[in-house]
Amino acid sequence: MSLKSWFVICCLAVLVTMLVSLYYLAKRRESIKKVMSRMIMVTCLSVFVTMLELLTNDKSLMMLGRCAFYACMDWVCFSLLHYVSEYTEQRKGFPYIYPLWITVLGLDSISMLLNPFYEHAAHFKVIMHEGENFLVVRPLFFYYVHIGICYFLIADVFIRLFIACIKAPGIYRMKYIFIPISVFITVVADAIYLLQDNYFDLLIIFFALSYVVVLYFTFYFVPRFLRRRIQMLVMKEMSDIVISFDNVGKCVYYNWIPEELIIPQEMQLNQFIGYLDKHTNGQDIIEIDLADGHHFFQKAVHELKNHKEQYIGCFYVLHDVTEEQKMLRDQYYAVNFDALTGLYNRNYFIEKATDFMHENPEQRYILICSDIRHFKALNDIFGERIGDNVLCSIAEGLREDDDGNRVYGRIGGDSFAVCMPEENFHLDSYLRKSRRVFELPYLHYPIVNHTGIYRVENVNLSVSVMCDRAMMAITSIRNDYQQEVIYYDEKLRDKLLYEQEILRDVKSAFEEGQFAIYLQPQINHKTGEIAGAEALVRWVHPERGVVSPGAFIPVMEKHGMITQLDRYVWELACKQLGKWHKDGKLTTISVNISGKDFYYADLFEVFTELIKKYDVPARCLCLEITETTFAMDAKKQLEVIERLREVGFIVEMDDFGNGYSSLNTLKNMPIDILKMDMAFISNTDKYHRGEEIMRMVVAMANKLSMPVIAEGVETKGQADFLASIGCNVMQGFYYSEPVSITDFEKMLGHPWVDKLANKLG
Ligand code: C2E
Ligand code: CA
Ligand code: CA
Repeated sequence: MSLKSWFVICCLAVLVTMLVSLYYLAKRRESIKKVMSRMIMVTCLSVFVTMLELLTNDKSLMMLGRCAFYACMDWVCFSLLHYVSEYTEQRKGFPYIYPLWITVLGLDSISMLLNPFYEHAAHFKVIMHEGENFLVVRPLFFYYVHIGICYFLIADVFIRLFIACIKAPGIYRMKYIFIPISVFITVVADAIYLLQDNYFDLLIIFFALSYVVVLYFTFYFVPRFLRRRIQMLVMKEMSDIVISFDNVGKCVYYNWIPEELIIPQEMQLNQFIGYLDKHTNGQDIIEIDLADGHHFFQKAVHELKNHKEQYIGCFYVLHDVTEEQKMLRDQYYAVNFDALTGLYNRNYFIEKATDFMHENPEQRYILICSDIRHFKALNDIFGERIGDNVLCSIAEGLREDDDGNRVYGRIGGDSFAVCMPEENFHLDSYLRKSRRVFELPYLHYPIVNHTGIYRVENVNLSVSVMCDRAMMAITSIRNDYQQEVIYYDEKLRDKLLYEQEILRDVKSAFEEGQFAIYLQPQINHKTGEIAGAEALVRWVHPERGVVSPGAFIPVMEKHGMITQLDRYVWELACKQLGKWHKDGKLTTISVNISGKDFYYADLFEVFTELIKKYDVPARCLCLEITETTFAMDAKKQLEVIERLREVGFIVEMDDFGNGYSSLNTLKNMPIDILKMDMAFISNTDKYHRGEEIMRMVVAMANKLSMPVIAEGVETKGQADFLASIGCNVMQGFYYSEPVSITDFEKMLGHPWVDKLANKLG
């Protein structure tokens, strides 16, 4: 076969390859396929015109084919540049130079296509070789311009690839390097071919082949290569460990592995299993120390089988569950621990203390609860931060004392609890320590930490109940500055139970009218006549009989029920006064007012309505208040009292001399009558001093034109002494105990009005 025929066959083969490539490209989705297709089509056209030169022996047609080939080469190079700029994503500026290139290349192509007519770019000569015509070129100026343009485009291609290579991360360099390599190989191959005295330039064939290579790399080889590299990187970066073994238990792959497991290639499956077993904690979680800290892994094993169900190996996935584990631990912490102090919270303390005691139930235990007196006030005065510091220092103290044989926690806002063997508890050192905890450099405030101690008799009793009992013990000393520690015992329990019973019975007592008033007469010592009476409440209990107020009033005060009771008593007193008033009998009744009544009722409204309801003159109702009423918010109380006095009520200062009485009170308080308690002379050692004080109090009251009623008068001597110092109205067992209304009415004589005048001096 002739040489030209060989070339034509080559061209046809290349054309077919290119068309197949085009077909393949059409199916792709990548945006680059458009530029790539254009590049291949231009190349096809070049091959086609080359074939034109080969298929004829006519010089003019051969020249036309050759010059068309030159023109095509412009576009082949340009389409390569376009492809590279898309591929390397260096599109910047391309839309601007694009029209410029089109113009330049257009002109050059025209110049090349006109060459057969003017031969301004190249001069052709036909030579005969083995019976076939071939063109020999003698290049002229425009040919060199054309070659220059082509080289320029190729140079641009190389520069762009070079820049892309430099900029790209290592694994992406492969993506760019293959293009210059294949172009380079093309040029070298062509040069070698030409050096061998060949008559025909096969450059376009080489170009076409290299484009197919480029296509292959662009769409197939590089992506696959990259995918694999990236997969490997992903596996390496993964926090999970993947390790696989073949059918004989030899390690064949791992993405990464803890450092302890060196030479993993030689590692056998059983070694690996041994390693896992060594690091597995009780909950089937593998704990491994890595360079960046402690990690937790969850193990999963998968067997690999082929389609014939033959075992071909296995792989382990150790899934990193560190975050989940930490979250679980945080949750566990949040549920069981107190966030501020880090101690056990109430529920967890109860759980732990129960376990602790059950471990050795023969041992005797105590449960100590503490509660800071007026912690809320401390918070209000100094702010929550200081309050928190106080709590933390208690917690710190508890930690310091921890001998490993106790359980402790924070069981409430300001309450802590410790459970320990009784033999390890020493009250003195406990108190010393407890006080030392509060010697805080930044706090000059006396903190009292009340402690209630429960001796455990039965470890099966719920710890919660034990805590409640210790806390209950504390409530009984809550208002006591002196007593810091109290043991829960039978007496206390009875007291508390009694309180509970009272609270339980109070409701029905009101409903069934079990409360009654007893009246204690107030007597004029000189005349022996009754000047008035004090109403004192009695609970006529269906089971207990007549109960004195000392037994239930403190409980009702503690539980905010005193006002209900007082209002009940006031109503009874007013009802009685109203009855007497209607019968023309006029006397006074003094009623007791608790300090809390000022907060729970509008006293002005209550009293004015009561006297209106029962038609009682205001001056017949005396209101007994104590100094403690003014302990807080004195201004408000004074205002109420002033208004009541304006209406005509008589206000008495009760219990003067019993407690912290001050002479200032006499001077400043808006009171009408002073009730002086015999407590002044109760202390026999200082009897005479007491007498002197009473003498002065009476003198002073007289000076202030304030009548004095002595209360608690028990003997004739006391009565005579009181009379001698100018105090004539007296109340006490010497004359009469408090008696029922019926009995009191029996005592009464006539006329009432004079007696009332006596009482008021
Ligand atoms: P108080 O107001 O100082 O009442 C006088 C108390 O002294 C009465 O006790 C009375 O029985 C008692 N007493 C009278 N004469 C003598 C005496 O010669 N020697 C001694 N040692 N005691 C005498 P009572 O009735 O047990 O009341 C105790 C306290 O209970 C009262 O003290 C009062 O503070 C309070 N109270 C009584 N009734 C009521 C009430 O209706 N409301 C309020 N808020 N408190 C009441
Ligand atoms: Ca009283
Ligand atoms: Ca009194």
